[in-house]
Amino acid sequence: MKMLLGAVADDLTGATDLALTLSREGMRTVQVVGIPPVDFDYGDAEAVVVALKSRTIAADEAVALSLEACRRLIAAGAEQVIFKYCSTFDSTPEGNIGPVAEALHGHLGGALTLACPAFPANGRTVYRGHLFVGDMLLSDSPMKNHPLTPMTESNLVRVLQQQTALKVGLITRDWVSKGSDQIGAAFTQAAARGEEIVIVDAITDYDLRAIGRAAAGMRLITGGSGIALGLPENFRRAGKLRSQSTAADFAAPQGKAVILAGSCSAATRRQVSVAIEAATPALKLDPLDIAAGRTTVDAVVDWVMSATDAIPLVYSSSEPDDVRRAQEALGRDRAGELIEQLLAQVAARLTSLGYCRFLVAGGETSGAVVNQLGVQALLIGPEIDPGVPWTVSIGRKEPLALALKSGNFGGDDFFLRAWDVV
Ligand code: ADP
Repeated sequence: MKMLLGAVADDLTGATDLALTLSREGMRTVQVVGIPPVDFDYGDAEAVVVALKSRTIAADEAVALSLEACRRLIAAGAEQVIFKYCSTFDSTPEGNIGPVAEALHGHLGGALTLACPAFPANGRTVYRGHLFVGDMLLSDSPMKNHPLTPMTESNLVRVLQQQTALKVGLITRDWVSKGSDQIGAAFTQAAARGEEIVIVDAITDYDLRAIGRAAAGMRLITGGSGIALGLPENFRRAGKLRSQSTAADFAAPQGKAVILAGSCSAATRRQVSVAIEAATPALKLDPLDIAAGRTTVDAVVDWVMSATDAIPLVYSSSEPDDVRRAQEALGRDRAGELIEQLLAQVAARLTSLGYCRFLVAGGETSGAVVNQLGVQALLIGPEIDPGVPWTVSIGRKEPLALALKSGNFGGDDFFLRAWDVV
């Protein structure tokens, strides 16, 4: 059996979001955490999503990791490769979206590729090359205050062109709304103009499916999880899909649970507030306290164990001014690292104390937790909210149920409601 579609995702929750989309659209999908070993057994997976933690590392490292992941996927049979990044195009002026897309584009033969972060179900739309979050331009949205990747420019052609030597073009909705044949014609014209990567407008799932259909022959596709909506159908039409999705096999382990939130995104901050208003036992972490040794893994674990009446919440989610203060004192990366490592170590300790259900908020945070837990791969289960499924670890002796939530995803009562699904 052969994999059909391979994906390289720049963070863990983004990978999960993409794996969920592919699974829902009928591909047997496995998500691998980190670069899979050469002899990794993908089972009967038709789609494999490799989750890296490459969104905010140095660009050359992100390129090297992404290329390695891509080589493994191609070696295992992938006919098409998706480079998945965030639907809010999270990146710094140096990258890593541009450098990674450029490297993969070269590696996969250098034909035209596309870039489309749109995810209409979560309010991310692209119109005339500009990214909207709900009713706001990206640069007016809370993304302007992201702790690691503040986004202050909404024109994606401009953002991407700043990060890559590839010639960036734009295919507007004038084309997209006319369907896949016209989108295909627009791709041909873009390639004739010498463009190498085109931002493609999309404001509805219908647009995304049409773009997916038009991109059937592209070796490389880049975007948010939405760009995958139309891709499984291409394989189905070609008679290559065998099966039903992986969600059918899902069974979550039963046992003690905890919520760990290291995201400062607006949605997560609302979810923390709503959980606390609903009397969820909550412990707030401050990076300055961790740095000074005032907050320790032992103390946090003891506190979690003491909360027996309800599922406890440990969080560092803070308002932008507080984040700024911590970053000024500790440096941006160190502040983030302190929180990520503390939450990851707490999670690891809790697994040895019988906890087996973890809801983690934050992409980087989830990456740190899953690495610390030694989880190699995830089976995708039922969806809690758009882009966020429950998953079960593959390969650990004691399986864990993990809900890994990108910071900005999920309804306000997500922390309360997620448990109903399992
Ligand atoms: P999101 O999915 O919202 O982007 P991430 O976990 O990817 O969330 O990123 C949030 C980053 O901010 C992490 O590196 C995290 O450790 C860091 N962080 C969390 N809380 C604080 C805080 N109070 N001060 C500074 N940085 C923080």
